Amino acid sequence: MDGKDIAIIGGGPAGLMAAEVLSAKGHSVTVYEAMPTFARKFLLAGKSGLNITHSEDFDVFRTRFGAASGRLRAALDAFTPDDIRAWATGLGTETFVGSSGRVFPTVMKASPLLRAWLRRLETQGVRLATRHRWVGFQSGAYAFETPGGPVAVRPDAALLALGGASWPRLGSDAAWVPWLRQRDVDVRSFRPANCGFDVGWSDTFRERFAGAPLKSVSAASDAGTFPGEFVISRDGIEGSLVYAHSAALRDRLEQAGEASLVVDLTPGRTEARLIRDLVRQDPKASFSNRLRKSATLEGVKSALVRELIPDAASLAAEHLASLIKALPLPVLRPRPIKEAISSAGGIALEAIDERYMLGSIPGLFAAGEMLDWEAPTGGYLLTACFATGRAAAAGMTEWIAGR
Ligand SMILES: Cc1cc2nc3c(=O)[nH]c(=O)nc-3n(C[C@H](O)[C@H](O)[C@H](O)COP(=O)(O)OP(=O)(O)OC[C@H]3O[C@@H](n4cnc5c(N)ncnc54)[C@H](O)[C@@H]3O)c2cc1C
Repeated sequence: MDGKDIAIIGGGPAGLMAAEVLSAKGHSVTVYEAMPTFARKFLLAGKSGLNITHSEDFDVFRTRFGAASGRLRAALDAFTPDDIRAWATGLGTETFVGSSGRVFPTVMKASPLLRAWLRRLETQGVRLATRHRWVGFQSGAYAFETPGGPVAVRPDAALLALGGASWPRLGSDAAWVPWLRQRDVDVRSFRPANCGFDVGWSDTFRERFAGAPLKSVSAASDAGTFPGEFVISRDGIEGSLVYAHSAALRDRLEQAGEASLVVDLTPGRTEARLIRDLVRQDPKASFSNRLRKSATLEGVKSALVRELIPDAASLAAEHLASLIKALPLPVLRPRPIKEAISSAGGIALEAIDERYMLGSIPGLFAAGEMLDWEAPTGGYLLTACFATGRAAAAGMTEWIAGR
């Protein structure tokens, strides 16, 4: 195949993956990245242990993308979690499966993998252009701001991999949304995903317990019931168990105007046992002592009961036990998108064809988190970014060949 001139705009995991596939097919590929260095969010993800994919049964894995699962299926089938692990090994990064089934590089970080990846891309002839900020369309060309002044390029085909809208200071600022909407692309508003929530804590509770972890609890929402832990923050709640419920809580807030995370503070104890142990307590003992002796609730757990149920001390054992097993924790709103791990929203999946090409702009493809899908934490986000980057590259190859 004659090599074509291809522009990849956005140098995160999705864009770099597309560049790898297209350059391997002999195309002349340039990756344009606005920031001075590539893949800053990927590097940040590695700061807390890069969860690169997940080892669970692949049939379950494929359902983790909610309403988008069906649409992403072909891309995920073509680049599975096993493929990701083999790909990382090929770049000198061995991986291991953690106790939760999540897959991490043995070094936990992203930087060695990214360094080797960029080296491979350069070896394959990919031009890596940093400090090139795409600023929209200009008479059929893609316009960039660069330190040397404005530049306009007219590639044979282009791929947008500009990321979502969380952590905008790392580069993905969603500035592109109006440019695509002007070209009749359906772009859905961005919303926080895998995020914390504001809670109306009293000053006393906030001052005393901000930063305190609630360990060995379980929590329920429309998403289901999961064990885990979360953290009291100054503004509300955050942490892995909250993130697992965040899409359901966010959607319920949007639809009903109110939502609660329902927390079981003693998942190891049945309600019947709790009632029996509460009834046995000396009624003259303090409420804190009764909670500690009957349910081993102390510290932040005991304080949370009093914070959320001010008259808890006067409740009958049956009523109190049911609240300890299912304590409604009302959330006010998601934390701002700039703090979220990922975002929901972006280019509607109906706006791209099965090759990942925009229906209203022939020759322009899109991949990664800028597309409208979301997933929980657990390595699903990066997997879908890698997989859609590859799928869009394959789609572009097919489109070029058919012209
Ligand atoms: C704190 C944190 C931890 C995370 N941990 C994990 C994890 O462990 N596992 C996991 O699966 N996921 C994790 N994620 C999510 C994951 O990092 C993202 O889903 C993924 O990086 C998205 O890849 P992408 O290529 O679509 O977009 P991005 O990584 O956002 O890359 C887009 C690139 O496009 C560039 N760009 C944007 N606009 C322009 C423009 N106008 N011109 C040129 N370039 C532009 C940006 O600078 C950026 O480099 C984490 C995210 C955060 C914030």
